[in-house]
Amino acid sequence: MRGGLDLGGTKIQAVVVDERSKVLGESRRPTPGEGGPPAVADALAAALGEAAGDAGVEPGALEGIGVGSPGAVDARAGTVAEARNIHDWGDDAYPLAAELSERTGVRVALGNDVQVAVDAEFALGAAKRSKSLLGVFWGTGVGGGIILDGEPWVGRGAAGEIGHMVVERDGALCPCGRRGCMEAYAGRGAMELEARRLVELGRETVLFEIMEERGRTRLQSGVWSRALKRDDELATELVDRAVAALGAGIASAVNLLDVETVVIGGGLGTRLGEPYVRRIEEAMRPHLFVSERPPELRLAALGDLGGAIGAALLVA
Ligand SMILES: [Zn+2]
Repeated sequence: MRGGLDLGGTKIQAVVVDERSKVLGESRRPTPGEGGPPAVADALAAALGEAAGDAGVEPGALEGIGVGSPGAVDARAGTVAEARNIHDWGDDAYPLAAELSERTGVRVALGNDVQVAVDAEFALGAAKRSKSLLGVFWGTGVGGGIILDGEPWVGRGAAGEIGHMVVERDGALCPCGRRGCMEAYAGRGAMELEARRLVELGRETVLFEIMEERGRTRLQSGVWSRALKRDDELATELVDRAVAALGAGIASAVNLLDVETVVIGGGLGTRLGEPYVRRIEEAMRPHLFVSERPPELRLAALGDLGGAIGAALLVA
C-alpha cells in the first residue's frame, strides 16, 4: 500500500491506495493558515495518518508516500520553494520530503501537483487509452499538464502553464501580473476579483450572499455552482466569459500540440461537470485550425481525488 497527498492552497487531500491504485482510505483537512511549512508538514502527516486509519493500516506499514505540491518542487532534493498560495511559504527551499518522512517513518517522494494529477488521469482515468493528453485544471488558477507520446512533457521544468496563454493582448490583469492571460478570465481567483469590482460599481448578485450562507470567505466552486442554478445574471456572465477564454486558450494549445485528448478537471471543472465540458468544447470550435478532427474532451474521471491518487503513483 502507498500513501498519496495532494497539497492545495485551501485543503489537503490524503489517500491510501493498493498496488492497483484502488483507494482504501481517505481523509481531508484544511491547509493550515499559519505556522508556515512546518505546520503544513504536521497537517500532511496528520491527514495521512487519518487516511491510513481509514484503510485500517499503520502509516509506518506503507511502502512510501507521494506528495503533489504547488510551487517550485525539486523532486531530487526533496524540497519545495515559492508555494505562494500557501501561507508563509517563502522563497527558501523547505525540505518537505525529509520533514514528512521524519513525522511518518516512511520515505517520501515529491512531485508537481498539477503534473501528478495529469499523470493519474493518463494512467488510470479519463485518458487511459490516449497517447497524448492536455490536462486543464480549472480552479483558483488554471493549471495544465502535457503528455506527449506517453511521456510527460515538462519542458525545462515550467511547461504546461496553459493558464498564462494570452487570449487577449493588453486584456484583463492576471494574478501573475501580466495582461490578457486565460487565467485572468477563467481563474476562480480572478473571477472573484471581477465579481467584487462589479458589485462595487453597483451590480447585483447572489454570489456573496451564498458565500456567507455557506460560511465561506471566498467564492468557492460550490458558491458559483449554486449561483448558476439560481440564474444569477452576474455569475452567469462571468462563467460565460471564463468558458469563452478557456475555449480560445485550449483550442490554441491544441493547434500547437494536436493532442488526442483534453481532460478538464480542477475545482470548478469538477464541480460544474459534464455540461460545462461540452460548453468548453463548443467554445473551442471556432478557434480550431483542423476543425473537422477535434480532440476528445473529457471530464477528469478521478475527480477530487486525482491529485492524491497521482501523488501515490510517485512511489515507485
Ligand atoms: Zn498570467
